[in-house]
Amino acid sequence: MTRSYTALWREGDGPEHAGGLEVAFGHLSLEGRTRIDPTAARTRVALDEIEALRIERSVGERMDARPTLVVTRGGGPSLRIAIPGPGLLHEVSDAIGASLATRVRPERGAPLSVVVVGGGVGALEAVLTLRALAQERVSITLVSPSTRFVYRPLAVKRPFEAGPEPGVDLALFAADAGARLVTDTVVDVDVTARRVHTAGGRSLHYDALLVSVGARPEPALPGAIPFWDWGTGNGFRALLGELSRGESTSLAFAVPGGTVWPLPLYELALLTAAHLDDLGVAGARLTFVTPEAEPLGIFGRESSAAVAGALARRGIRLLTGATPLAFRDGALHLAGGRRVTADHAASVPRLRGPALAGLPHDAAGFISTDPYGHVDARLDVFAAGDATTFPVKQGGIAAQQAETAATAIAAQAGAPVRPEPLEPVLRALLLTADAPIFLRTELEGGRGETGDASADPLWWPPTKVVGHHLSGYLASRVRQVA
Ligand SMILES: Cc1cc2nc3c(=O)[nH]c(=O)nc-3n(C[C@H](O)[C@H](O)[C@H](O)COP(=O)(O)OP(=O)(O)OC[C@H]3O[C@@H](n4cnc5c(N)ncnc54)[C@H](O)[C@@H]3O)c2cc1C
Repeated sequence: MTRSYTALWREGDGPEHAGGLEVAFGHLSLEGRTRIDPTAARTRVALDEIEALRIERSVGERMDARPTLVVTRGGGPSLRIAIPGPGLLHEVSDAIGASLATRVRPERGAPLSVVVVGGGVGALEAVLTLRALAQERVSITLVSPSTRFVYRPLAVKRPFEAGPEPGVDLALFAADAGARLVTDTVVDVDVTARRVHTAGGRSLHYDALLVSVGARPEPALPGAIPFWDWGTGNGFRALLGELSRGESTSLAFAVPGGTVWPLPLYELALLTAAHLDDLGVAGARLTFVTPEAEPLGIFGRESSAAVAGALARRGIRLLTGATPLAFRDGALHLAGGRRVTADHAASVPRLRGPALAGLPHDAAGFISTDPYGHVDARLDVFAAGDATTFPVKQGGIAAQQAETAATAIAAQAGAPVRPEPLEPVLRALLLTADAPIFLRTELEGGRGETGDASADPLWWPPTKVVGHHLSGYLASRVRQVA
């Protein structure tokens, strides 16, 4: 089991003298901006010269030989420092921490300045976790272009029900959580200067940065009606009117290939069928088309069977293992040349990463992290949620990633907590118009093997987005959460 250990020290009082020493994920890294004299290591190293200082040993591994720290400057290893051993790695890191410290314990100094970027699920869970764990050891700045957190899961109800979009004003949230709100868009991260730059011309310093800016939806199916949020829910409402009046008689719900979160489309199909049943509209032909081998197969066999049953009870034809490519000329065109005839098609978008300037990302723009949420092995930059390379783009997962990262930051701030690697559990509440179905599975490498499906709540409060701290907060502040 991977464990991590954190020691922080200060020389002088200003935050510019703060440094961090952490053993995380089998590595020891040292960062800061003061001068140190690790006499045990028989050398003097200016911390601002160091990009990384790591020891290739596992935490808890017995080190009988004298371990060596490798200091990396400007890309390659440039200095080897012998540490007096033997000992367990956490004891060694204690020794290093002690030899570096003139005054150990960050709580004597200024609070750790944490910038959280985003105004969605990951950002809010991160802020709540930080405040709960680190309390006054952190000052938190939340940067978001939107002034409101919108509760996106209930967009599926938009075509069927009147009422305002559920959510909470970020000013209220920030006041509740003791954070400073900056309404702006981050355009660039300068990891060397530890600053984020915004579209509004701001330059914000951070000691620790957590980026949860979400994914970017892009239409994946030419010709299909997109469904993604409250606005596109309005668009679907017009189509529902056509079906209700009998002006259209067939509709295909099409999950595109690639990175998508398909669950809302299942809900839309089930709610549409129920709506037409309620109106007594007979003869409408609804088809659900998905590249998945089984419906919502990521939740495991039992859950797929429950979802397939719900579709069948509403008379929705299910076509699995089929990848829709486009809708045109009255047909949904599938990979391999097959077609499904329909008057219309509705689809969820494919997701791309934010490709935020200054942070490394993959070809699709997603930010890669280690199991603690660190970006590119940096100890002070974290990412969480749909913006990351984690393959499942779901709010509960975003919240768990955010909690993981925020716990690591709280430890850096001196809170008595131990960072733990992400062990993702996928929880979803599927709306069906009848009793909702609660789905749960533990994910290994982004895939579930076995899972539970139940008409009774598998978690509490039974919110659609599940977050350790966020669920309770949403239940208290948002009128409707499921
Ligand atoms: C219709 C629908 C229904 C869903 N239902 C569920 C559900 O029932 N349960 C569930 O768990 N998940 C659900 N999801 C998925 C869930 O909404 C996402 O996985 C989740 O919101 C991801 O959280 P996040 O914080 O990563 O990103 P988001 O919640 O998308 O938040 C990103 C935030 O970052 C801000 N931002 C973007 N760029 C910048 C920038 N450059 N600088 C500063 N801020 C920026 C945005 O304004 C936004 O506030 C659903 C998704 C959809 C589309």
